[in-house]
Amino acid sequence: MDAQPKASHFIDGEYCEDETGALIECVFAATGEVIARLHSATPALIEKAMQSAERAQKAWAALAPVERGRVLRRVADILRERNRELSELETLDTGKPLQETLVADAASGAEALEYFAGLAATITGETVPLGNDFVYTLREPLGVCVGIGAWNYPTQIACWKAAPALACGNAMVFKPSEMTPLCALKLAEIFIEAGAPAGLFNVVQGYGDVGAALATDARTDKVSLTGSVPTGRKVYAGAAEGIRHVTMELGGKSPMIVFDDADIENAVSASINGNFYSTGQICSNGTRVFVHRDIETAFIDRLIERTKNARIGDPRDEATQLGPLISSAQRDKVRDYIAKATDEGATLAYGGAVPEGFDTGYYIEPTIFTGVNDEMTIAREEVFGPVMSILTFADEDEVIDRANDTPFGLAAGVFTRDLTRAHRVVRALEAGTCWINTYNLTPVEAPFGGMKQSGVGRENSRAAIEHYSQVKSVYVAMGDVEAPY
Ligand code: NAD
Repeated sequence: MDAQPKASHFIDGEYCEDETGALIECVFAATGEVIARLHSATPALIEKAMQSAERAQKAWAALAPVERGRVLRRVADILRERNRELSELETLDTGKPLQETLVADAASGAEALEYFAGLAATITGETVPLGNDFVYTLREPLGVCVGIGAWNYPTQIACWKAAPALACGNAMVFKPSEMTPLCALKLAEIFIEAGAPAGLFNVVQGYGDVGAALATDARTDKVSLTGSVPTGRKVYAGAAEGIRHVTMELGGKSPMIVFDDADIENAVSASINGNFYSTGQICSNGTRVFVHRDIETAFIDRLIERTKNARIGDPRDEATQLGPLISSAQRDKVRDYIAKATDEGATLAYGGAVPEGFDTGYYIEPTIFTGVNDEMTIAREEVFGPVMSILTFADEDEVIDRANDTPFGLAAGVFTRDLTRAHRVVRALEAGTCWINTYNLTPVEAPFGGMKQSGVGRENSRAAIEHYSQVKSVYVAMGDVEAPY
């Protein structure tokens, strides 16, 4: 597959290029090869993207909602028809194994489009009776929304933002991560093929400066970012200048709590999925695994036994279960965290090195630390790699306090056969997305997002509609207007 796109950007219904923009090299993480060369958007291209989005938004919002829904539904159908081709591109863009991208990326994007296609025609206001008078409300679009993506799920992130935004009658200008510029361009092509007006979904490439220019443009009504907390702080501050709406999907250091009555095999499966899937590059990962001290040995033995079976390999091979990290810089960062954990006294129970024979790409073994305590860097900072920390606990109140002792609040998981305890603990956890006896399932029907520094707003579900629309309240008087003089 040739990964080089026709041009860097997709604006106003067509590919466009301006080679004076800074070079963006797209590197295949499994080999280190440059597979595509693109350019960052120049101010003229940003201008074109914003102008065309403004124009398209007005026409789009004037359509009957059911017609908007029909277009989004067609996008979902095309994504499914081309799943194989889109998954292969996602694998090249991110280095994630084809085994994953075939089921988790375009497929998840299609679900978001299908879901919000169905909701489009149900977005309505309400009437409020006031005796003879009454108020009715209109739920209106915000206008032009800017989406800024992280590199771990480029197709899914673009779809999770575009689907609710467009269902509500907005347009979107999307800036993918500079690490993964390819997939969103395909989505932009598909929007046109499905009948969306030119300019409704534009893709502009660029580094942080392009993201900042979009987020602070006077025509931008909303910014939705998926990225790290430090970037979130900057984007939120930039949006505040113009009192713009925001959705912030940021990082995490989520706890997974395994009580002594848990089904150990299920808890081990969830800790594997919640730490090693996508080579650990998932925001909601349960990277602090709190295991009750009475089952610690059984849990760790089984976890290591199963982790040994992980098939590391070329992500283009469908048998591969664990691919590389996104970049050499990310691998360096992960290795630094591994070294620091050892220095600070954690026990390296498994992995920790570059797997043998995989030194050309950005591979790292699935890594398990035991004997981790709450103060260690590995238990406090987001690693964004396949590194699991096992901490032990003795009782429920203690583990709740320790689980909440973090500025993050993205996700949490509880494993127990005692359902009363499961609900009680979940109520006490400061996390936007929680799971009982499973981990990292994010169906489009359920709200997804973070508390505390992990974010603002929610993606997916009906909740996303609130974040891509605004309410207009209309008072209707049926009688005369009284005035004091
Ligand atoms: P990042 O914060 O480095 O970059 C995210 C995006 O922001 C990129 O497109 C980048 O170009 C852009 N950006 C950087 N500086 C900017 C600025 N000043 N103004 C505007 N845009 C700017 O994040 P990353 O390294 O690409 O992704 C990893 C992070 O994303 C992790 O922290 C992870 O937890 C988080 N993440 C969160 C979710 C979620 O849904 N909560 C999902 C995936 C990833």
